Amino acid sequence: MSTKNKQHFLSILNFFKISFFPKRCIFCDDWFEAKGLMCKKCINSICKMDRRKTKCLVCDSEIDKMDKNDTDTCSSCQMGRPSFSRNLSAMDYNDALGKLIHAVKFGQHRQGCHDLAEIMHRLIPELNADNTVLSWIPLSRRRRLQRGFNQAEEIGKLIAEKRDILSLNVLSRILNTKPQARLNAEKRVENIKGAFVPLNNDKWVGKNIILIDDVITSGSTAQAAAETLLKYGSGRITLLTAGRG
Ligand SMILES: [Zn+2]
Ligand SMILES: [Zn+2]
Repeated sequence: MSTKNKQHFLSILNFFKISFFPKRCIFCDDWFEAKGLMCKKCINSICKMDRRKTKCLVCDSEIDKMDKNDTDTCSSCQMGRPSFSRNLSAMDYNDALGKLIHAVKFGQHRQGCHDLAEIMHRLIPELNADNTVLSWIPLSRRRRLQRGFNQAEEIGKLIAEKRDILSLNVLSRILNTKPQARLNAEKRVENIKGAFVPLNNDKWVGKNIILIDDVITSGSTAQAAAETLLKYGSGRITLLTAGRG
């Protein structure tokens, strides 16, 4: 068998293995039969992990005791409101969530998007979907080709299905930016500048947009995406993320 045929055969075998056979949970190593990388028991326990202390009503980060002068917003949102009206994170970023996200993004385990969508669906019940389209933070063409998929898009489509909301691409990422995780807050803003252009405008002008991403840290990627959408006539933008970094 030629190398190419062998690779093709292996990818078909992998597809059947993933689709029809039990596999081991990446957390407890137990066998389970479901889409995703985690067994039900581990999904249930990860969903109970969040401490949910006092959160900023805008960006969903924890409000520091020093900040808590009868206000519901953190000092950063008080200094300058972001372009998105709200971020809703399923939980604070923790080791377990990090392991799952890492497996999806760097282990190319696309099935893990099912677990992330399930966690977000369960932990973010409040979601106004009137006059709303659901979308995601896009990857650049190059990064998407490298990974083979955009995790935010995969999660977004699954959530759109669960909540019965129209989903579509609203942005394209035209710059190959450096990974934001390696930069400080100031450099992140600079790095992401001009990275997005609108797509399918006629389908979302005047509508509210729910934007999905896996993790929010400084929020500069979400800010740049939201800025672009508002500039081109979107309504309110709500960010939906699995982890609050
Ligand atoms: Zn498990
Ligand atoms: Zn805030």
